[in-house]
Amino acid sequence: MQIRLYNTMTRKVEDFKSITPNHVGIYNCGPTVYWDQHLGNMRTFFNSDMMKRMFLANGYTVNHVMNFTDVGHLTSDEDTGEDKMEKGAARENLSVWDVANKYIKSCLGDMDLLNIMRPTHTPRATDHIKEQIELIQKLEKLGYTYEIPNDGIYYDTSKLPDYGKLGGQNLSELRGGARIENNNKRNITDFALWKFSPKDVKRQMEWDSPWGVGFPGWHLECSAMSMKYLGDHFDIHSGGQEHIKVHHTNEIAQSEPIVGAPWVHYWVHWAWLMLREGKMAKSSGSFFTVRGLIDKGYDPMAFRYLLLTGHYRQPMEFSFESLDAAAAGYKNMVRKVADLMAVDDKAPVNQDLYNEWHDKILTPISDNLKTSETLAAVQDLLKSADINPATKLSLVNFIDDLLGLQLMDRANKLRAAESETAPADVQKLADARADAKKNRDFATADELRAKIDAAGWRVMDIPGGFKLVKKG
Ligand code: AMP
Ligand code: ZN
Repeated sequence: MQIRLYNTMTRKVEDFKSITPNHVGIYNCGPTVYWDQHLGNMRTFFNSDMMKRMFLANGYTVNHVMNFTDVGHLTSDEDTGEDKMEKGAARENLSVWDVANKYIKSCLGDMDLLNIMRPTHTPRATDHIKEQIELIQKLEKLGYTYEIPNDGIYYDTSKLPDYGKLGGQNLSELRGGARIENNNKRNITDFALWKFSPKDVKRQMEWDSPWGVGFPGWHLECSAMSMKYLGDHFDIHSGGQEHIKVHHTNEIAQSEPIVGAPWVHYWVHWAWLMLREGKMAKSSGSFFTVRGLIDKGYDPMAFRYLLLTGHYRQPMEFSFESLDAAAAGYKNMVRKVADLMAVDDKAPVNQDLYNEWHDKILTPISDNLKTSETLAAVQDLLKSADINPATKLSLVNFIDDLLGLQLMDRANKLRAAESETAPADVQKLADARADAKKNRDFATADELRAKIDAAGWRVMDIPGGFKLVKKG
């Protein structure tokens, strides 16, 4: 099936052609590990997971790399401001190394809860200082660097004629208007490759280098680690949309003089998850995490379902109303799958029908990741009266691989919960509630329902009596 993707570099949806047949190399910029990852970060990791699953369903092998930024960089793109890792360490009274370990673990844990497949490689910036220094040395040899005494080694962006091409930026315009915060830089767009440690402060993270003790500039790690794990040229580089104009532009500037252009064949950027008041961000202090959703009683799959209803190039507003709607939609799907499992029908999988629906489901997602259209096709499949249960269930397995919605697992759990008989004390409470209702003593009936609820069971009124169902 022809795969199509929007390439930020050409500003067009393009037919995808991999460097190696049936194999794709993908790099996705990962998080800075100084705090929990919020649902916005998760949207970005989810999108990169969906892209990978789409390739797998199309028969590709995938080498997927997502880095962890554990070097404390300065927070602004201008190489000034606070160090996030040191800030996290001070907040929690831990060393920066412990902060990094803690939040890498929590990030991977949240990804697991959302059923985001673990990337093939999750390299850490601090494990690749040598590779980063080697890149600077290569750029130095080619004449792209200069030193600002007591500050660092900088990249001279005026040396690269097409600097800014990814974001469609015109360098002379950029140089004109803006205020240069660092007066010693030759050009406003120049950026640090290596920062010297300040003379008066001992940093927790610093390394020796040919230029002096210090730490690498932020953009460098992604150039170094992507090329290490994917080769000098690779298929797809992705990340949040805010990376286009600075981070990814600078990655290109560092890499193309060394390996030749084009370094990366497709640039894919993910739009943000928004709150009504603006971007969901750690700096705003109020954010939601996957574990926070579980604490509120949501299945993480409801959030995954919600993300599937949007398109990766469009911002999505998060609200609990939309999450509730997604949770209901998801539950409905699980119910239908559970009902399919219960049907006594021995007819085998109809291969022609399977192939027809397989393609109906895979086509939209392969066309620039139109996940909402794929989700609609899944709904049509589950609704259709013309497909036998074995064929449908076989397709549900395929859908679980493609969308990661864990439908089979949740349907099995639902059936197990429904077939379990309640313990005697819960049964007694339910009998007493039925009596109270018969006597029109609704206050007592409500009290008893609350007790049943607290014991982990739900009492449902059905014609001629009640049914006890274990809560999921
Ligand atoms: P950070 O730790 O802030 O560097 O973010 C890690 C990744 O999550 C980056 O690739 C960001 O682009 C992405 N990200 C941050 N906030 C959001 C958001 N509200 N929606 C989608 N992606 C986000
Ligand atoms: Zn990056």
